[in-house]
Amino acid sequence: MIALMEAITKQQRKDIRLIGKFVEVYCTGKHCGAERAAFALPAGSGERTLCPECASFLEYAITRRLKCPLEAEKPSCKHCRTHCYAKPQLAKVKEIMAYAGRTLMLRGRLDYIWHYFF
Ligand SMILES: [Zn+2]
Repeated sequence: MIALMEAITKQQRKDIRLIGKFVEVYCTGKHCGAERAAFALPAGSGERTLCPECASFLEYAITRRLKCPLEAEKPSCKHCRTHCYAKPQLAKVKEIMAYAGRTLMLRGRLDYIWHYFF
């Protein structure tokens, strides 16, 4: 569970929802044999069903997003979001993005792709 010190911004909430969706798509496709449980997103942003590995990754990603020191200067993390990840998580997020991007594209969920990459 992620403790929130203060209210999150609209942009943070949007980014958290997107990364949550991406991780869930990845987990559904890659870890369907694992035991998966509900993961609550912060600030009432809903729930995602994830395996323990993906849940801990998502928690990390959300924490990084909430702690972003550049929050005031930019509208979103899309140009730098991966720069604040440690090496292992960086490799993981790239894998997740590639997989989820492909899957959502095949399902015609261009709305997600559009929001995330543009
Ligand atoms: Zn998983």
